[in-house]
Amino acid sequence: LRKAVIAGNWKMNKNRQEAATLIGELKEKVAGAGCDVVICVPYTNLETALSNTNGSNIKVGAENCHWAKSGAFTGEVSADMLAEMGVQYVIIGHSERRQYFGETDVTVQQRVRAALDAGLTVILCVGEMLEQREQGVTSELVAMQTKIALGGVSEEEMARIIIAYEPVWAIGTGRTATAEQANEVCKLIRDTIASLYSQKVADATTIQYGGSMNAGNAADLLAQPDVDGGLIGGASLKAPDFAAIVEAAS
Ligand code: 13P
Repeated sequence: LRKAVIAGNWKMNKNRQEAATLIGELKEKVAGAGCDVVICVPYTNLETALSNTNGSNIKVGAENCHWAKSGAFTGEVSADMLAEMGVQYVIIGHSERRQYFGETDVTVQQRVRAALDAGLTVILCVGEMLEQREQGVTSELVAMQTKIALGGVSEEEMARIIIAYEPVWAIGTGRTATAEQANEVCKLIRDTIASLYSQKVADATTIQYGGSMNAGNAADLLAQPDVDGGLIGGASLKAPDFAAIVEAAS
């Protein structure tokens, strides 16, 4: 059916030396993993990550990419540039990009398009803010984010789409969604994919939960039928913690 994928999102952390050390520790600990293991790192660490994971089961991703192939977009990096380096994954639409850098559902859709065209696998992030949950619009909002981001994505390309449900109120707050809350929205995303494509495509799509997932709560979250993995922030910065989550998914 579908694969469990545990992905680390390092965000804006780790210099090159620290990255090399962390990867060195991680490589041994996750060598026997029964799930896919990905680390998404800052652009400045991509080269280190690629060379230091060579020959291991750890795959490397970036944390964003631009929608154009090249051009006058100061400070941006294109999907083609990532693919050319050997990067295989890219996070798109993370809530921090949406909140602090003005990304919208439309630019997320454009970035997804570019990433797929470059041959990358996308980790597409969706999720509601606390006020939206309290207002009772989580389902509508997450379904809409999913539909817009997948606009123009073909059925074949869905094999290279992973969706990460990340409730914004659970990110970096220590306030994890309950396993039931996580499953409810992951299921809603799966139903949305079924309505856009087919139940077969929906059943084959990996849907992760993200938001304060750690060594202590991972097993409970991952035991849910519609939670197929995790996108891990803080706990991905320490090898024992990240390895424990990988173990829980294996
Ligand atoms: P934390 O695991 O630090 O809450 O971050 C989650 C996240 O945003 C992963 O993309």
